[in-house]
Amino acid sequence: MNGLKSMDNDYIHLSLLSQFGFCTRRAALVMLENAWHDNEYTAEGTMSHERVHTQGQVKRSDTIFLYDFRVYSHVMRLSGKCDCIEATFDESGYTFPFYEGKFKLYPIEYKHGVIRNEEEYNCQLCAQAMCLEETYNCKISSSAVFYTNSHRRVEILFDDVLRSTVISMAKALHEMLDTGKVPKADFSAKCKKCSLNDFCLPEISTSAKGYNKKLRQIALGG
Ligand code: SF4
Repeated sequence: MNGLKSMDNDYIHLSLLSQFGFCTRRAALVMLENAWHDNEYTAEGTMSHERVHTQGQVKRSDTIFLYDFRVYSHVMRLSGKCDCIEATFDESGYTFPFYEGKFKLYPIEYKHGVIRNEEEYNCQLCAQAMCLEETYNCKISSSAVFYTNSHRRVEILFDDVLRSTVISMAKALHEMLDTGKVPKADFSAKCKKCSLNDFCLPEISTSAKGYNKKLRQIALGG
């Protein structure tokens, strides 16, 4: 993962919503300083995404599975890809320009690991749905996160609160991009499993003396 202004220069990659939900500083480091390191928490997830993203289109019964599907929102200035969209034929659905008939769209986000409730995943998925709604003039009331280790999907309802959160996050990310400011570290338990820990140095990021000391320790293999 690298870069994070996508499509046009001022469109932000959808995945940054998830980063932002996890930690605002992390989102800023990825977006503004191109910081990205895989660790045991991210590397396998990246690989499973790559598998998903090479599968193309598959039709089964009345559903077409569209993998690695590009989405964007001009309103929120976001762009990215859906891991999978299930387009199911439904006469009460919506026209979808690639196929004849009417369809209901159901994006699926794949996540590595076992089932868990992560608000930032819900926001990322809701943003994908909002992009599809804007582009294809449809309504998507729910979708699912699929956890690859558990082989289970968890349905997420897109209520007004979640939608407002997505809009606020997109706005905050754009402000971050405009100002170029990286928030200070807020050291917490999640820093231990953050792949950017060595880049961020959360325990000492506000102390120049401590920062230099930590750099020396890293240089010496400490
Ligand atoms: S180490 Fe902690 S403060 Fe730094 S980016 Fe990661 S989660 Fe955020």
